[in-house]
Amino acid sequence: MSTTTRRITLSSPWLDERDEELVLEVLRSGRLSLGPTGPRFERMLADAVGAPYCAAVSSGTAGLHLCMRLAGVGPGDEVITSPYSFVASANCAIYEGATPVFADIDPRTFNLDPAAVEAAVTARTKAVVAVDIFGYPCELDELRAICDRHGLYFVEDACEALGATYKGRPLGSHGHPATFAFYPNKQMTTGEGGAVTTGSEEEHELLVSLRNQGRLETSSWLQHGRLGFNYRLDDISAALGIGQLERLDRILGARSEVAARYADLLAGLDVEPPLPDDADHVRSWFVYVVELPRGVDRDGVIRRLGEEGVDCAPYLPSIHLQSYMRERYGFSDGMFPVSEDVSARTMAIPFHARLEREDQERVVEALRNALG
Ligand SMILES: *Cc1c(COP(=O)(O)O)cnc(C)c1O
Repeated sequence: MSTTTRRITLSSPWLDERDEELVLEVLRSGRLSLGPTGPRFERMLADAVGAPYCAAVSSGTAGLHLCMRLAGVGPGDEVITSPYSFVASANCAIYEGATPVFADIDPRTFNLDPAAVEAAVTARTKAVVAVDIFGYPCELDELRAICDRHGLYFVEDACEALGATYKGRPLGSHGHPATFAFYPNKQMTTGEGGAVTTGSEEEHELLVSLRNQGRLETSSWLQHGRLGFNYRLDDISAALGIGQLERLDRILGARSEVAARYADLLAGLDVEPPLPDDADHVRSWFVYVVELPRGVDRDGVIRRLGEEGVDCAPYLPSIHLQSYMRERYGFSDGMFPVSEDVSARTMAIPFHARLEREDQERVVEALRNALG
């Protein structure tokens, strides 16, 4: 790579002067946490996804952990989730002493295969954590029906899917708890941050208490009724979130345009592009992940792209094959063949709201060369 070639990064947040103005306003107000900005952010986010209740938290992981508390998950319980995800969706069960149980994924959607979930249910199963991977909605109706049949609690990890819709309604508006995340590579960012939406007032009150050290909302100052956490989102982060939400439609629209351009540019290359939407599933673009044919040295392709100044990543490794998971639970190769096959062949290419056409052309040209 020539030293003058600009690197094309995997992701990049879209920040503007309005974001700066809102953050500065909070800084100047001196009310940096538990002020009025948090609730304003929560109301805007609830409106954006059509949820009755929304609790902002310090990260997506914190939100998923609190959902395990809502579910009453504890030692001895099993929680079924996807092996093809970011580790947080499995770790949240471990935090509460439960055992993560994986069910294999659908090779088209990369989301949990409902039949595999049903087959994984045991007398110890307490909850299912379904992930909307890469912003593509999971099979909510089938998965919720399985949970209803077996008396299981259903949690949605929508951390990659803000703005996606299932059967015409936004994720977050379907009643069950759904967690969103705002790390800088997500659709919108608060730096670090997350939120849990729910249709239940009771669940919402519990979330609000648990994120704030188990404090009792109704009683006087410093009354703690349960063991909680400090999972609060500060007001500076919430202010940034308000700026982002003010132009969420523009952000999501720009990401869709970038994705559509990739689809055009990639036509003719021997890679499988992301699954298109259908009547029930409308994706919100989080990352752009392509699937290479069997037999191609995926890691070699990523290395060659890196040499051309194009940042790519193997995306995603299967969680059950992470070293700590193998050591702790005895997971091994071959247990979830679809997830493992997809993990070996998928890679993320640079993707964000303001990625320009000429950079996309450079990415695709480098990919064409790397594929040979
Ligand atoms: C980003 C993400 C999370 C949460 O991440 P945080 O960094 O804790 O905000 C959880 N699950 C999935 C699938 C994610 O992509």
